[in-house]
Amino acid sequence: MSQAQAVVIVAAELRLFLRPGRRGGPVAVAVDGTSSLGHVVQSLGVPLTEVGRLLVNGEPTAPGYRPGNGDVVGVEAVRRPQQLTSARFVLDVHLGTLARRLRLAGLDAAYASDAGDDALIGQANAGRRVLLTQDRGLLRRRALWLGAYVRGARPDDQFRDVLDRFRPPLAPWTRCPACNGLLSPVAKAAVAPVLRPGTLRTYQTFSRCGSCGQVYWHGAHSKRLEQIIDSAVRAVTGASE
Ligand SMILES: [Zn+2]
Repeated sequence: MSQAQAVVIVAAELRLFLRPGRRGGPVAVAVDGTSSLGHVVQSLGVPLTEVGRLLVNGEPTAPGYRPGNGDVVGVEAVRRPQQLTSARFVLDVHLGTLARRLRLAGLDAAYASDAGDDALIGQANAGRRVLLTQDRGLLRRRALWLGAYVRGARPDDQFRDVLDRFRPPLAPWTRCPACNGLLSPVAKAAVAPVLRPGTLRTYQTFSRCGSCGQVYWHGAHSKRLEQIIDSAVRAVTGASE
């Protein structure tokens, strides 16, 4: 007895989502004539948020198409840079360090260490924020309007991945890394009472978070953070030339 089959060719960049035994090349999948292309791709483990064009027998095809026997399906990765109408993000609970990095670069990055999956999806949808996560199951949730899988285990790599994917406009040192609020310049005299004498002697330029009130001063950030931001700015500007 022969079962109806389609062959799925997944782009190399997306093979990490496949089961290890399927990463070597084309994957044969049984098709029942009723499942959509999008469903077939997601059931292989590839979230549609990571997918660019879908091809059937070489022709671009909508995810609603129902693959039939003998179809050859191509799954391309989402093209970079991925266009966003506004670069706003919400991060899942495991990406707190990345959230701080994004904020340092001036990006709007909502994050709460205790947010549940439903709350994350609600926040992404209501605020038109891209949900950044390494949870593939979360990306496959039907209710989610837009999400992105973050590549890399180290925060530096994750940061680079997000910048490379979206090439968002950066505004370093304009946002509070602690709470995501916007920073405004503030006169030294206004913040003097809450600063240590050494800080007052050393620094002249201060800013304050409009949300949590935290005061920042230029130079307070370690060399390492300066380097992170510099490399981010270079990555975004250099890559768009
Ligand atoms: Zn703040």
